Amino acid sequence: MAQHTPSAERPKRVALLGSTGSIGTSTLDVARHLPHRVEVVGLAAHSRWEQLAEQCREFKPAVAVLCDAEAFARADRTQFPKGTELLHGEDAVRKLVTATETDVVVSAVVGAAGLNGTWAALDAGKTVALANKETLVVGGPLVTELAAKRGAKLLPVDSEHSAIFQALTGHTAADVSKVVLTASGGPFRGKRAADLEHVTPQQALKHPTWQMGPKITIDSATLMNKALEVIEARWLFGLTADQIDVIVHPESVVHSFVEFADGSVLAQLSPPDMRLPIQLALLHPERTGGPAKRLNWQELRALTFEQPDRETFAALDLGFRVARDGGTTGAVLNAANEAAVGRFLSNDLAFLDIARCCRAVLDAHDYEPRPTLERLLKLDGWARQEVASWTRTRTATR
Ligand code: NDP
Ligand code: MG
Repeated sequence: MAQHTPSAERPKRVALLGSTGSIGTSTLDVARHLPHRVEVVGLAAHSRWEQLAEQCREFKPAVAVLCDAEAFARADRTQFPKGTELLHGEDAVRKLVTATETDVVVSAVVGAAGLNGTWAALDAGKTVALANKETLVVGGPLVTELAAKRGAKLLPVDSEHSAIFQALTGHTAADVSKVVLTASGGPFRGKRAADLEHVTPQQALKHPTWQMGPKITIDSATLMNKALEVIEARWLFGLTADQIDVIVHPESVVHSFVEFADGSVLAQLSPPDMRLPIQLALLHPERTGGPAKRLNWQELRALTFEQPDRETFAALDLGFRVARDGGTTGAVLNAANEAAVGRFLSNDLAFLDIARCCRAVLDAHDYEPRPTLERLLKLDGWARQEVASWTRTRTATR
């Protein structure tokens, strides 16, 4: 086997959108460990300016962006290093991701708010390391068509999709019989609907294997995260909904399976640590030692699998429905879910209401098979309003 020699290439210049979040800080940890391979040229956050300033003092990017106008007005400029230009708003995000200095854009904003920056990066032909799965849920075919048209690489950060991407190396979708996404099952694995009617946000926020931002942690508890990942896989790898399956794997060590046409199955294994798929997406196709945890072969015992409980975790089937129907359904499901998760976190909706409400909004919308991006963004706003009125009706009848 060839001896690994450190790359002689210059570092990848990275613009990081969502730098203050869970994926953002893990990305910076990769950069911290591999300064000769990763150079941070730009950082963007929404409103946590103190944390952004601290990151700027450490990584000295040329540009830092605060998307929120109020936070930008409040931010103490003296906390930012002299060489960092502090900018504000969506135009600044566009400027950052399209700059000639930027090689790779890490898309790690949470929710549909991540679509703009991802779109601008792909439109400029940049390589995008995509954590923001909502971009593909909302605009799947438009996003992948744009990437293809501009010759932009779209590399998955989501651990399941990174696993599939790695297993697919050297193959095309035509070689694939099916992909099986693994799911931890979240904090409520094994519970029935009757046990979940009154669970609190605090209980739902306790994930057994992954440390993540609050929105995706709730999505993991409802299995909506897996639903969104089914849709993400459908568009990212050009699969049909029938080629995608989900299996519960509580240890979160196998990150997904690909079954090929000849019946051979490839999987990717590693401890649950997002720094590995992030590093892979940043340095692709290079593999080098990094900060991610490694499997401890002395401690490894059983890896277990079970079928998901689709009745209790009704969100999962909504993902398959959207993967099958496409069109406007992804934008509607995503916005309804974002709004319903917000309502659950503020104690205005019950846990099981999240999936009920999402289904009701999907059922109520005017389906179109080939919507434009503008139409999808309008529907996003409409779906959020529908959740507001669904919540009002629900509260009145409770
Ligand atoms: P967090 O909530 O931890 O972080 C979100 C980041 O986005 C923060 O930097 C936040 O800034 C910024 N942000 C929030 N709203 C806006 C907005 N309107 N405009 C611009 N920036 C905004 O989320 P995660 O890191 O957990 O998740 C990020 C994405 O990665 C999600 O799409 C998630 O599904 C995906 N993902 C996450 C995984 C994980 O392990 N966390 C695993 C796989 C995928 P501020 O701090 O200033 O509010
Ligand atoms: Mg995932």
